[in-house]
Amino acid sequence: MKILLTGGAGFIGSHTAVELVNEGYEPIIIDDFRNSKSFVIENIEKIIGRKVVFHCTDIGDQEKISSIIKQEKPVGIIHFAADKAVNESVKNPLKYYHNNIVNLIKLLSVIDKHNIDSFIFSSSCTVYGSPSFIPVNEKTPIQPAFSPYGYTKQVGEKILTDFFKTKQQTSLTMLRYFNPIGAHPSSLIGELPLGVPSNLVPYITQTAIGKRKELTIFGNDYNTADGTCIRDYIHVVDLARAHVLSLKNKHSYNNIYNVGVGNGKSVLEVVHSFEEINNLKVNYQFGERRDGDVPEIYADNHLIKTELKWEPIFSLKEALHHAWAWERELKSKYKIG
Ligand code: UDP
Repeated sequence: MKILLTGGAGFIGSHTAVELVNEGYEPIIIDDFRNSKSFVIENIEKIIGRKVVFHCTDIGDQEKISSIIKQEKPVGIIHFAADKAVNESVKNPLKYYHNNIVNLIKLLSVIDKHNIDSFIFSSSCTVYGSPSFIPVNEKTPIQPAFSPYGYTKQVGEKILTDFFKTKQQTSLTMLRYFNPIGAHPSSLIGELPLGVPSNLVPYITQTAIGKRKELTIFGNDYNTADGTCIRDYIHVVDLARAHVLSLKNKHSYNNIYNVGVGNGKSVLEVVHSFEEINNLKVNYQFGERRDGDVPEIYADNHLIKTELKWEPIFSLKEALHHAWAWERELKSKYKIG
């Protein structure tokens, strides 16, 4: 069964392509490498041991997307293609409104003319804003978004819910990602931040390898045990597996699931776990709070565990070990770093 992955060469998309093949699906990858590199496709092929279907296309190009759908006839679509940096969205909101909302509407206009069994959307825990209680479950009231990025995910969920209400033959699943980290255990695919990373773990690995002088921890005066922000860090392979399970989901036509391990870790805890598992030191200093950051959020993942029988397999330390192995691979093989 063919599954179309928009943004399938990206961090989560590439790992999902591998997991799809492991479960007997045929991924059809669309990407224009604006946030990735062509060697990712080659490395997916190394992991799965065969060729993968790939189309180098801008997701906003409706004519091309339409002809790919006509040609490939996918039964499902997983829509990853979007921008994802909270802080960048504060500085450049129009980029986010364009890529995350305008392009979503364009994609749906194309899909409108085709029959699709499943549509899976990359949503985010940022839809909860700064929640009034933690852990958040899927019924936790949505608060105003803290960033344009979070707002695009709130609006995206609403657009999809309204659109698919008119198409009861399609099962819609919106996965609210917590903080994906790590890399494939083979060290063949992983996160590929272009320029200065905005996410914590790639910043840690780039500091450890000497590409960055020091990590700045954004704020140590939050009302948390050690003063730094709390997040729910999930191994990217575990997150990828949630997409595959969503395709098999027969629960209802409109599904929302938190995908997090259900465990809050502070920025300092992540830094120290990284140091411990990899037996090295990370140079860091404390800096100002970052715009758009909520102090604390982690998942109640009861729903996805019971309905999809999803369980995270990897620990935080394993994820940090894989992230470090990937960073070293980037430096030695691809001269990135
Ligand atoms: N963070 C940090 N220094 C960095 C990058 C991130 O202290 O260079 C913190 C950030 O303030 C947040 C946590 O790490 O509390 C996770 O941030 P990330 O950007 O990875 O994910 P987000 O939760 O913003 O999506």
